[in-house]
Amino acid sequence: MRILLVEDDATLRAQLRTALVEATYVVDEADNGRDAHFLGDTEPFDAVVLDLGLPQLDGLSVLRRWRDAGRTLPVLILTARDAWNEKVAGIDAGADDYLTKPFHMEELLARLRALIRRASGQASPVLRCGAVTLDTRSGRVTVDGQPVTLTSHEYKVLDYLMHRPGTVVSRTELTEHIYAQDHDRDSNTIEVFVGRLRKKLPGELIETVRGLGYRLVAPPCG
Ligand code: CA
Repeated sequence: MRILLVEDDATLRAQLRTALVEATYVVDEADNGRDAHFLGDTEPFDAVVLDLGLPQLDGLSVLRRWRDAGRTLPVLILTARDAWNEKVAGIDAGADDYLTKPFHMEELLARLRALIRRASGQASPVLRCGAVTLDTRSGRVTVDGQPVTLTSHEYKVLDYLMHRPGTVVSRTELTEHIYAQDHDRDSNTIEVFVGRLRKKLPGELIETVRGLGYRLVAPPCG
């Protein structure tokens, strides 16, 4: 899952980045509204953490422009303490959730998980597909209740697919959601990760849809 992190305070941005990366997300960053707007307009993100007080273009304007352009990506805004009117304005501008500074990192991560699962129609933090479970809180994956050890990339691929059971996901789409923008991307590596996942999980779980991509098939999933 790929997050756009928009915060002009360098210290807070670094703390957020560290926490997000530890929580298995890949992160693109912006420290001003113009860059944030451009990135959110041109790259596919699974969620955005958007500070409202930003140089060049304020966060509310960034959010309004995305929504005016039909961008539906989940957005969590960061508001100043005691600024209740910012929350109202933010939600009315199209924010999906808000958090008031200062906040606990655990709360931010929980809210992001909720936004991401709601956006893909999942209700539970534990995703299930046949014999496989993936706990989005702990990053634990099990098969028939037995823990399975995955590399970071294998986990990212499985996490993305398990949020979309039954849906065909192309290699390009997977590549865009498991690597940040500045990363040297090679969609051939997706095949390698899927090959390794098939050895660690029930073989029939990930179906190859010729010419299109991959699909989780073992029902019931959700
Ligand atoms: Ca700020």
